[in-house]
Amino acid sequence: MMSSNTFYSKPAAFNVLWLQSGGCGGCTMSLLCADTPDFFGALSDAGINMLWHPSLSIESGADALRILRACIDGEMPLHALCVEGSMLRGPHGTGRFHMLAGTGKPMIEWVRALAEVADYTVAVGTCAAYGGITAAGSNPTDACGLQYEGDQIGGLLGAAYRSRTGLPVINVAGCPTHPNWVLETLMALAADLFDASQIDALGRPRFYADHLVHHGCTRNEYYEFKASAEKPSDLGCMMENMGCKGTQVHADCNTRLWNGDGSCTRGGYACISCTEPGFEEPGHAFHVTPKIAGIPIGLPTDMPKAWFVALASLSKSATPKRVRENATADHLKVVPAIRKTRLK
Ligand code: SF4
Ligand code: SF4
Repeated sequence: MMSSNTFYSKPAAFNVLWLQSGGCGGCTMSLLCADTPDFFGALSDAGINMLWHPSLSIESGADALRILRACIDGEMPLHALCVEGSMLRGPHGTGRFHMLAGTGKPMIEWVRALAEVADYTVAVGTCAAYGGITAAGSNPTDACGLQYEGDQIGGLLGAAYRSRTGLPVINVAGCPTHPNWVLETLMALAADLFDASQIDALGRPRFYADHLVHHGCTRNEYYEFKASAEKPSDLGCMMENMGCKGTQVHADCNTRLWNGDGSCTRGGYACISCTEPGFEEPGHAFHVTPKIAGIPIGLPTDMPKAWFVALASLSKSATPKRVRENATADHLKVVPAIRKTRLK
């Protein structure tokens, strides 16, 4: 727990205000798993002052609203507005599916007003970035992201929106988002080291979105030989049968890792592309790879289909026995041979 009053006396602090709307709270849960023994100490060391966070701050009710109003009225500088969860515009554009308690006003109106005065606006998680899980199905709450609706620019704030420093919404997409993606973004903003060149075409910070989940996956050798898992718990690559989209998905999950040493694919789960707009509606079961004539529909980024087909058949024919047998086992059945290689 923290009291924002503790920090009011620090004029140089980079003020962050965090709001939650149509989400599960998982991005905050993820944030608290940040790889630091002292989360608030890390913020403080970076000059970041969490003005208010609904789950972490002491203030509630009128005290919390005073902080929000002080930002809107210009009495308190708002450096970064962080929004977690999608924007609920329903019913009929009124936003009344999510009223900010005690204010009689919909959350979307608070977000619009605060985004006007924020130096930077940050969407925390795929819900806030693109609509995410909350926008799935028939989307009865008319959920959208801050500046996107799926992959279409617009969302709540509109395509033309720019925060006071001239940047569009920074989309720290992920479901949940990685705690260090959030911290590194805020630290870079606080240090004035972040500009428009550092976001990709979908508004994501490039320091993590210029990578693919496939990079660093421990199943890479199986991928090379198209030695594929056929069922959960198999060690093989999950692209061909188990729905893995890691070769197409922008994130550094397998090099940055989660909680120090994990990732979805290391845990035996296919990458379901949670950093991408529209991941919530893949049009097929998450754990199944859709195919046409036996060829996966979603081919690796940057790889022409003909190359993939040629490479796959060649590599399958060259698969070592060790890789082929281990691919459909839940433990190593064949270990790498020890041979004299003449390498010293
Ligand atoms: S992005 Fe995922 S984890 Fe974050 S609030 Fe939305 S549903 Fe929850
Ligand atoms: S399981 Fe997914 S991320 Fe890992 S090697 Fe296969 S395609 Fe790449």
